[in-house]
Amino acid sequence: MPETEDPFFGGKAPPFAPGDAPPFTPPNPNAPAGDKGQAPPFAPGHAPPFHIEPLPPGIKMDMLPTQPDDNKPFNPSAPMGPIPGYPSIGFNDTPLNPPPRSDNIDQYFPKNRPDIKGPAIITQDQARRALVEHCNTHCCWSASAAQEMSVSNMLSSNAFQYCLETFCEKRSTAWAKVPYTGQSVDGPHNGPAPMPWDIPATYGAKFSTEKRLIEVPHTACVKPCEYCQACGWLRCNRCQGHGMSMCTSCHGSGRSFGASQQQQMCMFCQGQGRRRCTTCGGHGRIKCHMCQGYRSLKWFIQLTIDWINHTQDYILERTDLPDELIRDVRGHIAFQEENVQVFPINHCPEPSINQASNSIIAKHRTAFPNERLIGQRHTVRVIPVTEADGHWKDKKFRFFVYGLENRAYSDDYPQQCCCGCSIL
Ligand SMILES: [Zn+2]
Ligand SMILES: [Zn+2]
Ligand SMILES: [Zn+2]
Repeated sequence: MPETEDPFFGGKAPPFAPGDAPPFTPPNPNAPAGDKGQAPPFAPGHAPPFHIEPLPPGIKMDMLPTQPDDNKPFNPSAPMGPIPGYPSIGFNDTPLNPPPRSDNIDQYFPKNRPDIKGPAIITQDQARRALVEHCNTHCCWSASAAQEMSVSNMLSSNAFQYCLETFCEKRSTAWAKVPYTGQSVDGPHNGPAPMPWDIPATYGAKFSTEKRLIEVPHTACVKPCEYCQACGWLRCNRCQGHGMSMCTSCHGSGRSFGASQQQQMCMFCQGQGRRRCTTCGGHGRIKCHMCQGYRSLKWFIQLTIDWINHTQDYILERTDLPDELIRDVRGHIAFQEENVQVFPINHCPEPSINQASNSIIAKHRTAFPNERLIGQRHTVRVIPVTEADGHWKDKKFRFFVYGLENRAYSDDYPQQCCCGCSIL
């Protein structure tokens, strides 16, 4: 609708560019003559206009571009010409292949390896104590059966967990931007940009995951913000810059129906049919969120470094205890070895652990082609598991005590649901 036909302005051109002046104050029809415009125009629950900064010098309201569609990606032009070493730099992170390795992996072959140490045996008393403690930590398990039970068929065994950790570094680059507020700009005039894998950075802790963002030196420049066409502001989409939008209460009619079905003036818009736009507070414009109103952006190549600890394990557990429970308890570290690269073990008394070591190491050798290998560590843990039958009254049940902390597990313990709930 052309502005001159705008019913809001009564067919007259507004005395100021929409939104460029103090927010519009609809006349109060109930106000006595001479008081027009002074009565608070805000409908109940409607916020008063907030203070807004003036437009930058030389920028007029009608110059403001409309808000770009947030669902469409912002595709600015390339901040600068090609930068040596960064040929395919884009606006999305592109992973970089690590430089080829020059080391000979045979040098990491272990000269001698420690033995894999044996198990721990648990006594009947320890098993009972573990079960009593376990019952005390479950609200629904009564400890009396555990205290009074007799124990038979106690059988101790060892569970084994083999775990390989492969610690790698991944690098990727992309153009990044921040509002230009006058900060220093390290551009190509300071020298050539270092190659992405030559930028020094060290992880905080080995075998743990970490992310770091680094501005690549000598790649920065300042450009006008293309999002707002360097205005610093955008025309409000909701009200098209008028500062007012249709009243959702009366759907623009300005009238509503009272209790007696009598037509009356809509109280929410004072009969105007339109209300102050809640998106822009009635100003018709919102600050550009790309440049935060600074009108310029500092662009630079951002290097993203991810240190990743890839882990894979294999559990050998021969009883009916759910295998995954082994992962969360303490055990003896029977063997541990760390190097740039590790080699499969072949001296574990359990052949399936040796086989698992072989296949997991082989898999990790080629699993992360886009990452630089920093180090590997493999561990064999031995976790004691004791299985026993408990007898209480005329009931018989099986239970397990496992881990160095003697955790207990039973899925047919007789006093699980004393309080009637079914959640353990
Ligand atoms: Zn608006
Ligand atoms: Zn209304
Ligand atoms: Zn902007």
